[in-house]
Amino acid sequence: MAAPARPPRPQHVMEVVSRERISPSLVRLVVGGDGFDSFAPSESTDSYVKIVFAKPELGLTPPYDLAALRETLAPEDIPVTRTYTVRSVDANARTLTLDFVVHGDEGLAAPWAREARPGDPIVFMGPGGAYAPDPEADWHLLAGDASAMPAVAAALEALPADARGYAFLVVDHADDRLELPHPAGVEIVWAVGAEAGAATGLLAETMVSRDWPEGRVHVFAHGERESIKQVRRLLKERGIPREQISISGYWAHGRNEDRFQSEKRTDIGRID
Ligand SMILES: Cc1cc2nc3c(=O)[nH]c(=O)nc-3n(C[C@H](O)[C@H](O)[C@H](O)COP(=O)(O)OP(=O)(O)OC[C@H]3O[C@@H](n4cnc5c(N)ncnc54)[C@H](O)[C@@H]3O)c2cc1C
Repeated sequence: MAAPARPPRPQHVMEVVSRERISPSLVRLVVGGDGFDSFAPSESTDSYVKIVFAKPELGLTPPYDLAALRETLAPEDIPVTRTYTVRSVDANARTLTLDFVVHGDEGLAAPWAREARPGDPIVFMGPGGAYAPDPEADWHLLAGDASAMPAVAAALEALPADARGYAFLVVDHADDRLELPHPAGVEIVWAVGAEAGAATGLLAETMVSRDWPEGRVHVFAHGERESIKQVRRLLKERGIPREQISISGYWAHGRNEDRFQSEKRTDIGRID
């Protein structure tokens, strides 16, 4: 007997409220509107949504019946998704903030965000997410590139005031080093260089530039896939138990997100 079809994930249909270039590499969109009422914020600091992109020339009206479209449209016309962290939610203003790395003219989400205007529609599913800093941990190790900065920033804001640890962040430009509110006992260590996010070993190298405290650490490490594999190796060398680690690739060089996600089921896509 065939497995029962999964019920469709609800789609939230909102609109762009504002766009701001917050650094050379990051564009911030605030989105809101009536669709906010269907969105249930998550407790996870790495909460994320899947933005649905449909070809404008098809004239489809959201929410999309993705199951039906998969049956009827040519493969290249089926809407695709791109994953973005919910940087913050403002329940009073009924808005969400999303920060997009702008990485040139390739791709869907980044070029769209760079040109987005107030009133433009945005359709997404979610939120998903699984990590929040463990208040019982002795110290915290956060690590990532610009794509993980929204999640790292949200984690830093959620840490208790007496938390200790490090946030290691690699960015392309000095001006990408945003002021991120954080507990006094957590040091933010930046590594800057042209295409730093692309430099595979830089994140792991930066992480060993500091002495790691004794005690039980809680790790959050996400970003470019190959650089995260190096981080995983480092964490293994240091004997950190898997259950204390949240780790994954957020993107991979030369792959759009569709291919990146499908490679998760293959050797090259595996972090562990
Ligand atoms: C759980 C999760 C949360 C994420 N949160 C965020 C977030 O808050 N902000 C954010 O910017 N990204 C985030 N990402 C990463 C984002 O989903 C990918 O970068 C995605 O590929 C961007 O889609 P695109 O349409 O712009 O480019 P795609 O069409 O997917 O890719 C086109 C080309 O651009 C390259 N590319 C993709 N991303 C980058 C990048 N960051 N830097 C340089 N080159 C790149 C690809 O290698 C490819 O060659 C997250 C990913 C996951 C899994």
